[in-house]
Amino acid sequence: MTRRTVLVTGGTRGIGRAIATAFVAVSENVIVCARGKPEEPLTEGAAFIACDVADRAAVQRMFAEIEAAHERLDILVNNAGAAGANPLAPDADDGLWDLILATNLYGTYYCSKAALGIMPAGSGRIVNIASVLALRGVPDQTAYCAAKHGVLGFTRALAHAVGPRGITVNAVCPGWVDTEMARRRFAELGLSTAEAAAGSPLGRISDPAEVAALVLFLCSPAARNITGQAIGIDGGWLA
Ligand code: NDP
Repeated sequence: MTRRTVLVTGGTRGIGRAIATAFVAVSENVIVCARGKPEEPLTEGAAFIACDVADRAAVQRMFAEIEAAHERLDILVNNAGAAGANPLAPDADDGLWDLILATNLYGTYYCSKAALGIMPAGSGRIVNIASVLALRGVPDQTAYCAAKHGVLGFTRALAHAVGPRGITVNAVCPGWVDTEMARRRFAELGLSTAEAAAGSPLGRISDPAEVAALVLFLCSPAARNITGQAIGIDGGWLA
Protein backbone atom coordinates (compact mmCIF):
# COMPACT_ATOMS: atom_id res chain seq x y z
CA MET A 1 0.00 0.00 0.00
CA THR A 2 1.32 3.51 -0.78
CA ARG A 3 1.95 5.91 2.07
CA ARG A 4 -1.31 7.58 3.09
CA THR A 5 -1.72 11.13 4.35
CA VAL A 6 -3.51 11.29 7.70
CA LEU A 7 -4.81 14.29 9.66
CA VAL A 8 -5.44 13.81 13.38
CA THR A 9 -7.18 16.80 14.94
CA GLY A 10 -6.21 17.39 18.56
CA GLY A 11 -3.19 15.22 17.93
CA THR A 12 -0.80 16.87 20.37
CA ARG A 13 -1.74 14.98 23.52
CA GLY A 14 -3.94 12.20 24.92
CA ILE A 15 -5.83 9.98 22.50
CA GLY A 16 -4.95 12.07 19.44
CA ARG A 17 -1.25 11.87 20.15
CA ALA A 18 -1.49 8.07 20.52
CA ILE A 19 -3.34 7.85 17.18
CA ALA A 20 -0.68 10.00 15.48
CA THR A 21 2.09 7.86 16.98
CA ALA A 22 0.41 4.65 15.80
CA PHE A 23 0.05 5.95 12.22
CA VAL A 24 3.67 7.13 12.16
CA ALA A 25 4.72 3.66 13.39
CA VAL A 26 3.18 2.10 10.27
CA SER A 27 4.89 4.71 8.07
CA GLU A 28 1.91 6.86 7.16
CA ASN A 29 2.37 10.56 6.46
CA VAL A 30 0.90 12.18 9.58
CA ILE A 31 -0.24 15.74 10.27
CA VAL A 32 -1.60 16.79 13.64
CA CYS A 33 -3.42 19.98 14.50
CA ALA A 34 -4.29 21.70 17.76
CA ARG A 35 -4.92 25.28 18.82
CA GLY A 36 -1.35 25.65 20.02
CA LYS A 37 1.92 23.80 19.72
CA PRO A 38 2.61 22.06 23.03
CA GLU A 39 5.77 22.63 25.05
CA GLU A 40 6.65 18.92 24.98
CA PRO A 41 7.85 17.55 21.63
CA LEU A 42 5.25 16.31 19.14
CA THR A 43 5.11 12.71 17.99
CA GLU A 44 8.39 12.27 16.12
CA GLY A 45 7.74 12.24 12.39
CA ALA A 46 4.40 14.08 12.54
CA ALA A 47 3.91 17.56 11.06
CA PHE A 48 2.02 20.23 12.98
CA ILE A 49 -0.52 22.84 11.83
CA ALA A 50 -2.00 25.30 14.32
CA CYS A 51 -5.77 25.25 13.86
CA ASP A 52 -8.81 25.72 16.03
CA VAL A 53 -11.29 23.26 14.52
CA ALA A 54 -14.17 25.37 15.82
CA ASP A 55 -13.06 28.20 13.53
CA ARG A 56 -14.46 27.60 10.03
CA ALA A 57 -11.99 29.93 8.30
CA ALA A 58 -9.02 28.41 10.14
CA VAL A 59 -10.13 24.93 9.07
CA GLN A 60 -10.36 26.08 5.46
CA ARG A 61 -6.82 27.51 5.69
CA MET A 62 -5.52 24.25 7.16
CA PHE A 63 -7.01 22.19 4.34
CA ALA A 64 -5.66 24.58 1.72
CA GLU A 65 -2.22 24.04 3.27
CA ILE A 66 -2.67 20.25 3.26
CA GLU A 67 -3.83 20.24 -0.35
CA ALA A 68 -0.91 22.44 -1.44
CA ALA A 69 1.63 20.19 0.28
CA HIS A 70 0.12 16.70 -0.23
CA GLU A 71 -2.65 17.07 -2.90
CA ARG A 72 -4.95 14.70 -1.01
CA LEU A 73 -6.02 13.52 2.41
CA ASP A 74 -6.59 9.77 2.77
CA ILE A 75 -7.63 9.64 6.42
CA LEU A 76 -9.28 12.18 8.70
CA VAL A 77 -9.50 11.46 12.43
CA ASN A 78 -11.82 13.97 14.09
CA ASN A 79 -10.45 13.70 17.61
CA ALA A 80 -10.22 17.28 18.94
CA GLY A 81 -12.65 17.61 21.79
CA ALA A 82 -13.69 19.73 24.73
CA ALA A 83 -15.64 18.58 27.78
CA GLY A 84 -16.98 20.00 31.01
CA ALA A 85 -19.97 20.01 33.34
CA ASN A 86 -22.67 22.49 32.36
CA PRO A 87 -25.56 22.32 34.83
CA LEU A 88 -28.59 24.21 33.52
CA ALA A 89 -28.92 26.79 36.30
CA PRO A 90 -30.96 29.79 35.04
CA ASP A 91 -27.99 32.16 35.43
CA ALA A 92 -25.38 29.70 34.08
CA ASP A 93 -23.00 31.07 31.46
CA ASP A 94 -23.63 29.65 27.97
CA GLY A 95 -19.95 29.86 27.03
CA LEU A 96 -19.14 26.27 27.90
CA TRP A 97 -22.14 24.98 25.92
CA ASP A 98 -20.93 26.95 22.90
CA LEU A 99 -17.32 25.76 23.27
CA ILE A 100 -18.28 22.09 23.62
CA LEU A 101 -20.69 22.12 20.68
CA ALA A 102 -18.31 24.16 18.53
CA THR A 103 -15.29 21.95 19.17
CA ASN A 104 -16.81 18.47 19.10
CA LEU A 105 -19.67 18.86 16.63
CA TYR A 106 -18.97 21.89 14.44
CA GLY A 107 -15.27 21.02 14.32
CA THR A 108 -16.11 17.53 13.09
CA TYR A 109 -18.44 18.98 10.47
CA TYR A 110 -16.01 21.67 9.22
CA CYS A 111 -13.09 19.23 8.97
CA SER A 112 -15.13 16.45 7.32
CA LYS A 113 -16.60 18.83 4.75
CA ALA A 114 -13.18 20.19 3.83
CA ALA A 115 -11.55 16.74 3.86
CA LEU A 116 -14.12 15.26 1.48
CA GLY A 117 -13.01 17.76 -1.16
CA ILE A 118 -9.54 16.15 -1.28
CA MET A 119 -10.29 12.58 -0.19
CA PRO A 120 -9.80 9.85 -2.80
CA ALA A 121 -12.81 7.78 -3.84
CA GLY A 122 -12.52 4.09 -3.08
CA SER A 123 -10.21 4.32 -0.08
CA GLY A 124 -10.92 7.43 2.00
CA ARG A 125 -11.59 7.02 5.71
CA ILE A 126 -13.15 9.29 8.34
CA VAL A 127 -13.04 8.22 11.98
CA ASN A 128 -14.83 10.36 14.54
CA ILE A 129 -13.81 10.04 18.17
CA ALA A 130 -17.19 10.23 19.88
CA SER A 131 -17.76 8.78 23.36
CA VAL A 132 -19.98 6.42 25.32
CA LEU A 133 -21.86 9.68 25.96
CA ALA A 134 -22.88 9.60 22.29
CA LEU A 135 -25.12 6.72 23.36
CA ARG A 136 -26.12 7.59 26.93
CA GLY A 137 -26.95 10.66 28.98
CA VAL A 138 -25.22 11.94 32.11
CA PRO A 139 -27.00 14.64 34.19
CA ASP A 140 -24.40 17.42 34.30
CA GLN A 141 -22.99 16.81 30.79
CA THR A 142 -25.83 18.08 28.61
CA ALA A 143 -23.54 19.92 26.19
CA TYR A 144 -21.06 17.06 25.85
CA CYS A 145 -23.86 14.48 25.42
CA ALA A 146 -25.63 16.68 22.86
CA ALA A 147 -22.38 17.22 20.95
CA LYS A 148 -21.34 13.57 20.94
CA HIS A 149 -24.86 12.31 20.09
CA GLY A 150 -24.66 14.85 17.24
CA VAL A 151 -21.31 13.45 16.12
CA LEU A 152 -22.86 10.00 15.98
CA GLY A 153 -25.87 11.18 13.97
CA PHE A 154 -23.49 12.99 11.62
CA THR A 155 -21.38 9.82 11.29
CA ARG A 156 -24.38 7.71 10.33
CA ALA A 157 -25.77 10.21 7.81
CA LEU A 158 -22.37 10.88 6.25
CA ALA A 159 -21.71 7.14 5.92
CA HIS A 160 -24.80 6.97 3.70
CA ALA A 161 -23.81 10.09 1.79
CA VAL A 162 -20.24 9.06 0.91
CA GLY A 163 -20.56 5.26 0.91
CA PRO A 164 -21.23 5.29 -2.85
CA ARG A 165 -17.78 6.94 -3.25
CA GLY A 166 -16.16 4.07 -1.32
CA ILE A 167 -15.39 6.27 1.70
CA THR A 168 -16.13 4.88 5.16
CA VAL A 169 -17.20 6.95 8.17
CA ASN A 170 -17.23 5.45 11.64
CA ALA A 171 -17.44 6.62 15.24
CA VAL A 172 -15.30 5.26 18.04
CA CYS A 173 -17.03 5.51 21.41
CA PRO A 174 -14.54 5.28 24.27
CA GLY A 175 -15.39 5.07 27.94
CA TRP A 176 -12.72 6.42 30.29
CA VAL A 177 -9.33 6.80 28.65
CA ASP A 178 -6.28 7.72 30.68
CA THR A 179 -5.72 11.34 29.52
CA GLU A 180 -5.72 14.87 30.91
CA MET A 181 -9.41 15.24 30.01
CA ALA A 182 -10.38 12.16 32.05
CA ARG A 183 -8.14 13.13 34.97
CA ARG A 184 -9.85 16.56 35.15
CA ARG A 185 -13.23 14.82 35.33
CA PHE A 186 -12.03 12.35 37.99
CA ALA A 187 -10.95 15.35 40.10
CA GLU A 188 -14.36 17.03 39.56
CA LEU A 189 -16.15 13.85 40.68
CA GLY A 190 -13.71 13.17 43.53
CA LEU A 191 -12.94 9.75 42.02
CA SER A 192 -9.63 7.92 41.98
CA THR A 193 -8.64 6.23 38.70
CA ALA A 194 -9.28 2.85 40.35
CA GLU A 195 -12.78 3.92 41.42
CA ALA A 196 -13.57 5.14 37.89
CA ALA A 197 -12.27 1.88 36.43
CA ALA A 198 -14.43 -0.16 38.81
CA GLY A 199 -17.57 1.21 37.05
CA SER A 200 -17.13 -1.14 34.06
CA PRO A 201 -17.36 -4.95 33.95
CA LEU A 202 -13.71 -5.32 32.98
CA GLY A 203 -12.68 -2.96 35.78
CA ARG A 204 -10.10 -0.97 33.84
CA ILE A 205 -9.90 2.25 31.86
CA SER A 206 -8.46 2.31 28.35
CA ASP A 207 -4.94 3.27 27.47
CA PRO A 208 -4.86 5.83 24.60
CA ALA A 209 -2.86 3.30 22.54
CA GLU A 210 -5.81 0.88 22.68
CA VAL A 211 -8.09 3.50 21.14
CA ALA A 212 -5.40 4.17 18.53
CA ALA A 213 -5.26 0.48 17.60
CA LEU A 214 -9.02 0.48 16.96
CA VAL A 215 -8.72 3.57 14.76
CA LEU A 216 -5.91 1.93 12.76
CA PHE A 217 -8.06 -1.16 12.26
CA LEU A 218 -10.94 0.99 10.95
CA CYS A 219 -8.52 2.51 8.45
CA SER A 220 -7.14 -0.85 7.32
CA PRO A 221 -8.24 -2.80 4.22
CA ALA A 222 -9.81 -5.40 6.54
CA ALA A 223 -12.36 -2.77 7.63
CA ARG A 224 -13.39 -1.69 4.14
CA ASN A 225 -16.98 -2.92 4.58
CA ILE A 226 -17.49 -1.30 8.00
CA THR A 227 -19.22 2.08 7.90
CA GLY A 228 -21.75 4.12 9.86
CA GLN A 229 -20.90 2.25 13.08
CA ALA A 230 -20.54 3.35 16.69
CA ILE A 231 -17.82 1.10 18.05
CA GLY A 232 -17.43 1.03 21.82
CA ILE A 233 -14.16 0.65 23.69
CA ASP A 234 -15.32 0.99 27.26
CA GLY A 235 -14.55 -2.14 29.25
CA GLY A 236 -18.21 -3.09 28.81
CA TRP A 237 -19.56 0.05 30.56
CA LEU A 238 -22.49 0.34 28.12
CA ALA A 239 -23.30 -3.38 28.11
P1 NDP B 1 -7.22 15.92 25.80
O1 NDP B 1 -7.88 17.10 26.44
O2 NDP B 1 -6.20 15.17 26.55
O3 NDP B 1 -6.62 16.38 24.36
C1 NDP B 1 -7.41 17.12 23.50
C2 NDP B 1 -6.64 17.47 22.25
O4 NDP B 1 -7.50 18.25 21.40
C3 NDP B 1 -5.41 18.35 22.50
O5 NDP B 1 -4.44 18.08 21.51
C4 NDP B 1 -5.96 19.75 22.35
O6 NDP B 1 -4.91 20.67 22.06
C5 NDP B 1 -6.90 19.54 21.16
N1 NDP B 1 -7.97 20.52 21.03
C6 NDP B 1 -8.86 20.93 21.96
N2 NDP B 1 -9.67 21.84 21.45
C7 NDP B 1 -9.30 22.03 20.16
C8 NDP B 1 -9.76 22.84 19.10
N3 NDP B 1 -10.81 23.68 19.25
N4 NDP B 1 -9.14 22.78 17.90
C9 NDP B 1 -8.08 21.95 17.72
N5 NDP B 1 -7.62 21.13 18.66
C10 NDP B 1 -8.21 21.18 19.89
O7 NDP B 1 -8.44 14.98 25.37
P2 NDP B 1 -8.51 13.39 25.14
O8 NDP B 1 -7.31 12.91 24.45
O9 NDP B 1 -8.95 12.77 26.40
O10 NDP B 1 -9.78 13.34 24.18
C11 NDP B 1 -9.69 13.19 22.76
C12 NDP B 1 -11.07 12.89 22.22
O11 NDP B 1 -11.59 11.71 22.83
C13 NDP B 1 -12.09 14.00 22.51
O12 NDP B 1 -12.96 14.16 21.42
C14 NDP B 1 -12.85 13.46 23.72
O13 NDP B 1 -14.13 14.01 23.80
C15 NDP B 1 -12.86 11.98 23.40
N6 NDP B 1 -13.07 11.11 24.54
C16 NDP B 1 -12.20 11.11 25.61
C17 NDP B 1 -12.42 10.26 26.66
C18 NDP B 1 -11.50 10.21 27.87
O14 NDP B 1 -11.85 9.54 28.86
N7 NDP B 1 -10.33 10.82 27.83
C19 NDP B 1 -13.58 9.35 26.70
C20 NDP B 1 -14.41 9.44 25.52
C21 NDP B 1 -14.16 10.29 24.49
P3 NDP B 1 -5.08 22.27 22.36
O15 NDP B 1 -5.76 22.37 23.70
O16 NDP B 1 -3.69 22.80 22.34
O17 NDP B 1 -5.92 22.80 21.24
